[in-house]
Amino acid sequence: MTDDDGVYRRDVLKASGAAAALGLGGGEFFQTLVESGDGTGPSNRDSGIESYVGQNEVIQTVCSPNCRGKCPIDVHVRDGQVKKVEPHPPEDEQYKRACVLGLSHTQRVYDPTRLKYPMKRTDWSPDEPNPDGRGPDAEFERVSWDEALDLVADKMQSLKADFGPESVLFHVGFGNYGQSGTAFSRLASLFGSTQPASTIDTNVGRGFNRVTGTGFYLPSTNEAEDWENANTIIVWGSDLFSSQFQMDASEVLDAVENGAKLVVVDPVYTTTASKADLWLPVKPGKDVHLALAMMHTVFEDGTYDEQFLRQRTTGPALVRKDTGDLLKSSTVFDDGSDDQVVAVEQGSNTAVELEPETDGPYALFGEFTVDGIECETALTRLRDHVADYAPSEVAEQTGVDAENIRTAVRWLATRGPGGIAPSYALGRYKHGHIFGQTYAMLMGLTGDYGRHGNIHAHHSGGATLSTGGWSTPEDADPGPSVRFSDYPDAMIDGDPHKVRAVYSIESNMMGNQFPDRQRFREAIKSLEMFVVADMHHTDTVQHADIIFPVPHWFEQEDIVSSWGSHPHISYRHKVQEPMWEARDDYYAIRGLAERLGFGDYFPETKRELLRELASRDDAIDFETLSEQGTQKKQNIPIVKFTDAFPTDTGRIKMYDDDAPSEEGVTFDLPRPLEDRTADDYEKADEYPLMFMQKHSRFRIHSQYEMLNWVREVNPEPQLDIHPSDAKARGIEDGEYVRVHNDRGEMIVKAKYNEAFQPGLVNTDQGWWSRDYVAGHHNDLTHNEVSEVGQTMAFYDVRVEVEPAPDDVDTDKYEADNPRGAGADAPRAGGD
Ligand code: SF4
Repeated sequence: MTDDDGVYRRDVLKASGAAAALGLGGGEFFQTLVESGDGTGPSNRDSGIESYVGQNEVIQTVCSPNCRGKCPIDVHVRDGQVKKVEPHPPEDEQYKRACVLGLSHTQRVYDPTRLKYPMKRTDWSPDEPNPDGRGPDAEFERVSWDEALDLVADKMQSLKADFGPESVLFHVGFGNYGQSGTAFSRLASLFGSTQPASTIDTNVGRGFNRVTGTGFYLPSTNEAEDWENANTIIVWGSDLFSSQFQMDASEVLDAVENGAKLVVVDPVYTTTASKADLWLPVKPGKDVHLALAMMHTVFEDGTYDEQFLRQRTTGPALVRKDTGDLLKSSTVFDDGSDDQVVAVEQGSNTAVELEPETDGPYALFGEFTVDGIECETALTRLRDHVADYAPSEVAEQTGVDAENIRTAVRWLATRGPGGIAPSYALGRYKHGHIFGQTYAMLMGLTGDYGRHGNIHAHHSGGATLSTGGWSTPEDADPGPSVRFSDYPDAMIDGDPHKVRAVYSIESNMMGNQFPDRQRFREAIKSLEMFVVADMHHTDTVQHADIIFPVPHWFEQEDIVSSWGSHPHISYRHKVQEPMWEARDDYYAIRGLAERLGFGDYFPETKRELLRELASRDDAIDFETLSEQGTQKKQNIPIVKFTDAFPTDTGRIKMYDDDAPSEEGVTFDLPRPLEDRTADDYEKADEYPLMFMQKHSRFRIHSQYEMLNWVREVNPEPQLDIHPSDAKARGIEDGEYVRVHNDRGEMIVKAKYNEAFQPGLVNTDQGWWSRDYVAGHHNDLTHNEVSEVGQTMAFYDVRVEVEPAPDDVDTDKYEADNPRGAGADAPRAGGD
């Protein structure tokens, strides 16, 4: 049932014993708002015993930051106030989940850092942008929605007239999995603006793609419900029991309960490592060496899957010794083709075409001469290549005991179905794409693809609403795209073209996901207009010229995809009307579309938009979805890769004769290539410590930073450092330290932590600049990407650490406030 105002009422309970069991939730936060003199919030906030009297309404909605959850949740509302959040059972109840961050929305929805009104930077105007006014000292003034939208639309039109539509960049992040991004892309296509191309976390997927024909982000592995069938799980570079707790962790634990062996490969002794049967403490950046040693063991033991190699890989394909190319059937047979490759039949040594998905008696190893051309099988090349990577040879380099390398891969190769669950962390090294190639080939040897119990990524496919190309109308002329990592060059130098204005939604780019922050600030300062839409006053908002206040998820109606999570589409029902003047992103997008002459392309209301988009997905029915709250997409395969691989040959490539190369290294076979993790890196002496910023159980990227409940147990950023590294630098446990390199510095509290190996330090990502005593972790990261992997290398960073200067001001953490003394200031984002 949905009221005319869009607020959904699923269930109404008389307050009684059941209501008395509910928590107080955000009561103290409403008090904060009322005390601040802001009279625009909901009124009639009874406190004390009276709040237990009245009606308790339970409204189903969705939590959807960029985690693996996208959890349907039930929100309990009493007297118009959100009191409690709990998991909502989706259509397939085995996927019922939520984490404590999601349950803490009772605080987030009433957080004082929420944006309340459209704002304009005081010293910005379309003709005089005063770019130096952006940043920590910027002041803002309240404007009406009409004024804000007029200013933005007029400036976009004048830039389009003077410099072309591509001078405006529509940037969308991953902060929400609703449909605003779909409407945003439609407006971008119609306007002809520059659109974003992601270079975050695409390394491993790109490497995996070179082998299997699929992957950009991590490839979608079997749906989570199938993981319990795995007999061996190698979790590689992921603390999923801490930061992937909502879905994947429980499935892994189910498998372990069923008898699976759990191996964790991680330079850090994580929570997940502590639960493993075997922990391989690899040194940062040595993952490819380790995976090659595993391949070596599989060849040495003879535990490769012969049938799989014959049927589904190019292992039997012949490689010409003269050119290094695969031997094409057009070279051998009169009616052969350039698309077909050649193998040799075992025994008869006759050349034959290697048909897709055919389990012929192909020779897996050997050297052969066909029509006078000397060849060897691809598998022979691979076996010879990994001969140099015996576990005993790489043990010292990788930091992993040789026998443990053998044990881990023997479990994988001999215990039945299983797989490797790597995370995006492996791609946060400059050449992380090579690991994607390596582990994809390793699993080609063990032959688990397409089977129940196979895992080849640390998340499933989940469900995405298919909107049938709605974001790109047929008569639109979409503009070019620019990679995230090229934003600064485009803004400052006009390379590949000059970007002069940015409209950003669902992204705290200045606060978390963009490296080399000082260069990025310089880029933002070169703009004529920076428009930011957000729920909270983030670091990015503090750099804006125009601010659009977006309501909390409980105040929006939406359809939520669960990409990388569970196989449902979920309906986000509105729990309450937007507070203050916050408005759904769609309000601004449609408002701009009208002003730019594209109003007819956008339905009048969000509800109509959602109905239109849902109608394009055959697996979804709008009414059913809205009524049920979730709908399981029945067309999602539980087991992936059951059909021919989408490669030229329909087979996994065990050798790539069309491989890219970089820095003199060709990736026909996986060849380790390192940047700052290399032992002989030129600045290794100057900056001897590797610096990572791992995900935290207390954040979803930079979201939830503002919650007092979280900050009570996670009050301030810290530098995890091994005691031996700290003592060598005269650093006490708990002392403030200066972490620096040739890009910048930050000052944080040192925390002795033996979970981090010597030579490796860490500050969890997700902290805003206001949380640091000085600087920010992204003042230390760099923006150099590999041309092949094209992925920002956040962990491929070196630093040095020293005690902080004596005069450093740490008052904010000495006051009696878990969030820091300045946290409740009206302009809370700061810099
Ligand atoms: S933060 Fe993620 S895992 Fe937690 S409740 Fe929300 S969607 Fe679920």
